[in-house]
Amino acid sequence: MKDNVHMTSNEFRESGKQLIDWLADYYQRVEEFPVLAQVKPGEIRASLPTDPPQSGVAFDAIVEQLNSKIMPGVTHWQSPNFFAYFPANTSEPSVLGDLISSGLGVQGMLWATSPACTELETHVLDWLAKMLALPAEFLSNSAGGGVIQDSASSASLCAILAARERATNFKSNENGCREELVAYSSTQAHSSIEKDIKVAGIGRANLRLVGVDEQFAMRPELLELAIEEDKQAGRVPFFVCATIGTTSSLAFDPLPAIGEICKKHGIWLHVDAAMAGTAALCPEFRYIQNGLEFADSYCFDAHKWMFTNFDCTCFYVADRETLTHSLSVTPEYLRNQASETGVVFDYRDWHVPLGRRFRALKLWFVIQHYGVAGLQVLVRHHVELAQKFRGWVLEDNRFEIIGPAQLNLVCFRLLGDGALNEELLRRLNASGGLYISHTKLNAKYTLRFCVAQSRTELRHVESAWAAICAEAAKLLRESGRGSHSNQAVSGRE
Ligand code: PLP
Repeated sequence: MKDNVHMTSNEFRESGKQLIDWLADYYQRVEEFPVLAQVKPGEIRASLPTDPPQSGVAFDAIVEQLNSKIMPGVTHWQSPNFFAYFPANTSEPSVLGDLISSGLGVQGMLWATSPACTELETHVLDWLAKMLALPAEFLSNSAGGGVIQDSASSASLCAILAARERATNFKSNENGCREELVAYSSTQAHSSIEKDIKVAGIGRANLRLVGVDEQFAMRPELLELAIEEDKQAGRVPFFVCATIGTTSSLAFDPLPAIGEICKKHGIWLHVDAAMAGTAALCPEFRYIQNGLEFADSYCFDAHKWMFTNFDCTCFYVADRETLTHSLSVTPEYLRNQASETGVVFDYRDWHVPLGRRFRALKLWFVIQHYGVAGLQVLVRHHVELAQKFRGWVLEDNRFEIIGPAQLNLVCFRLLGDGALNEELLRRLNASGGLYISHTKLNAKYTLRFCVAQSRTELRHVESAWAAICAEAAKLLRESGRGSHSNQAVSGRE
């Protein structure tokens, strides 16, 4: 009986091939699906049996249910017409690398529990540091190094914990935090910073949201002022998060000025480059990380724009000892000879979870498949497409651009009130033809158009703009405001 419950090798072989075919077909056809799932809350669950099957279901029947019950509720993040949020793009080599990771089923908490899992990760993150021209302190042959985490939120949390311990001489871990520690980010920093500050026990009231300039970048003179005020009141400034590419508008905080301030006051500087960090693959975009040499920690998500499927946050520290000292707890059952020698990395000490997947494989597959040059071509292509889109918006007097509109994100809005733009967004997304998302900038409801899907081409951006123009014209007509654009999309350069 026991032998019969497993899939046989042959069944696995056949089913596996069938599923690779399924995915290959999916990628070929993905733009035929409505990008945003067109289901109502509860619809997917209602289609599934209330109770689990008592005996095993044939594999073909499982695939059939995948097609009929699950796929209708999938939003197609890999569609070339997906322009919402920040992307979570992927690629075939990444999927295949991840498949091997799943198949090997390695749990790489310690170097000793699978040396290749640790060493490939260190190696690939060193490659990446060189590919992005990160400061030498982040390389593993210095005092620092990189680790793969599940998300930028987790990476920032680890940065905050290490900063807290450094600021309190590692006493917070022992006795709880006695000092009133204060952290700083701009008003435009990602919400994960606020969440991390809550989780780390710093208290939300001790996170200062520093004001920004007209391009939504942190104003360093306001940061300095806030730090001075806190110091005078006896509080301890311990952590600054600067963002390279804010979520709402892809604004870049001025790292050199912020870095000087952090250095002067001995404050931990964390740099969050969640999506935009990938742009540094191309030398012409590396200006975004000027000043990164001041940073104590840095993270970007290869799972956003670098063709590597979720999850794959690359987190670097300049001083790994502070991080591991902050997070390490060693019970008897994890002791082993290799760790005792001190010459190996045990990545369990570099983040919150103990267990870890072999995530470096997918990154290794991606880097090898595309090569640095291939990745650069793709990134440049996305930037070029987004900038083309920006040009079309600029030429059309029904719309305005808000924010910097740099690299691959363009924030724009139809001239008029928030309700008009909200309705425009609703109609566009309900059409299934494209998916865009929104934010508020200067208290105005604003649409975000981000180009970063692995297979997005000019024709997808052109038809997105055509759909936006057509819906806008309809809406303006309905509201009695007419609909004459400066220019039609066709033939436009
Ligand atoms: N930081 C920034 C600037 C982001 O835009 C995001 C998500 O979009 C995050 C952090 C959080 O990313 P993650 O989902 O990896 O936690």
